[in-house]
Amino acid sequence: KKKNPGEPEFLQAVEEVATSIISFIESEPRYKNTKILERMVEPERVIIFRVPWLDDKGEVQVNRGFRVQMNSAIGPYKGGLRFHPSVTLSVLKFLAFEQIFKNSLTGLPMGAGKGGSDFDPKGKSDNEVMKFCQSFMTELYRHVGEDTDIPAGDIGVGNREIGFLFGQYKRIAGSFNGVLTGKGNEWGGSHIRPEATGYGLIYFVDEILKTKNESIKGKTVIISGSGNVAQYAAEKCIQNGAKVLTLSDSHGFVYDPNGIDNEKLAFIKHLKNDEHGSIKEYATKFGCEYFEGERPWRIKCDIALPNATQNELNEEDAQLLVKNGCICVAEGANMPCTPEAVAIFLKAKIFYAPGKAANAGGVAVSGLEMSQNSQRYSWTRAEVDMKLKSIMHEIHEQCMKYGKEADGYINYERGANISGFVKVADAMLAQGIV
Ligand code: NDP
Repeated sequence: KKKNPGEPEFLQAVEEVATSIISFIESEPRYKNTKILERMVEPERVIIFRVPWLDDKGEVQVNRGFRVQMNSAIGPYKGGLRFHPSVTLSVLKFLAFEQIFKNSLTGLPMGAGKGGSDFDPKGKSDNEVMKFCQSFMTELYRHVGEDTDIPAGDIGVGNREIGFLFGQYKRIAGSFNGVLTGKGNEWGGSHIRPEATGYGLIYFVDEILKTKNESIKGKTVIISGSGNVAQYAAEKCIQNGAKVLTLSDSHGFVYDPNGIDNEKLAFIKHLKNDEHGSIKEYATKFGCEYFEGERPWRIKCDIALPNATQNELNEEDAQLLVKNGCICVAEGANMPCTPEAVAIFLKAKIFYAPGKAANAGGVAVSGLEMSQNSQRYSWTRAEVDMKLKSIMHEIHEQCMKYGKEADGYINYERGANISGFVKVADAMLAQGIV
């Protein structure tokens, strides 16, 4: 805490991991006197830079850019870029730290990183977003590369931003390569990458339910967020016969007791991806309720999927979910449940799947995009989807390996943390004190 003042999100993420793995580390002689966890929490490198750009009025704007290169023990740094006014060093260090375990769990050779800026793409013209991205990449390009650090998208960084960033990289570096993932299909992107996090989340939920001989079919689901992860999680729920009751954004949530179907979801995609509008318009269009300034956790459901942002589901919300009979909470977002909320789920012994396992499908398909780029090859949609399913299955197996308790309850948090840790820790030890 003394070493990282003013970094609450980072400390929260470290504490969560440390709490579940310290006793494991102490029980394994090979980690004795290695200070392995102390080494892991220290980023290999942090780059902070100025991002000046000219807005449409000809006025100079200045933002702050970051790249946290957290761990390269098992592969080049890999992790998304977030453009949101709430971005701070603490937020990016927490995300980069989580990424260590998540990337390890995918089984693919990817180290961990995260980056971004306090730039807010909302309300900006395409021209302004392009100018910002070009300025951001003018500094970032010297720190990234297809064999060193491969950024991707995250909140506020979608197809449009990846396009502008890639264009500028190519221009400066003079090389068309796989330095970024999440590219368009026509220029090196992988099929299923936009869908991967949301689809992967539902594949993981299915794996969880299978342990009780159940499936998502016929279940009621509440989802927060209405961005990339939320949209494709909802799409897969609908495909698999579940009923999606809610979606939200930073202003409020909509509750549709009839369920959000494909047609309504198409409206959301257009509203959010093309019009950059508010979810409130869904309620007006389809005549259902909208709750300003609220999150959907008090709506009765079988499954809850927090898919918006960190710390969006607290202790009180968790109590309500349990009381209302929710059987499974799976995180599409990173660290959306507070530690107090997680404690409630574990105590009630309902299924709780942490983001580092449940939302790893996105980075997994990014890893597949890297492989396709290296081979100058492109797998079909069906091939990538099959690989994604198989990776989510494997992650579930790994969680069971260290997470299964004596009474049969699976503690996915412990399982994901230990499994993710072992591979990276052993690689670090094999590579010496570096
Ligand atoms: P998007 O930018 O596409 O969507 C984010 C959604 O969350 C929007 O609906 C947004 O509302 C809402 N939101 C953002 N910030 C807040 C906030 N502070 N309070 C309430 N709502 C908020 O991002 P993604 O869907 O890509 O990411 C969502 C989460 O999933 C993040 O935690 C991200 O790190 C995680 N994730 C994403 C992956 C990916 O592949 N995209 C991979 C793994 C994890 P509004 O529309 O009003 O902005």
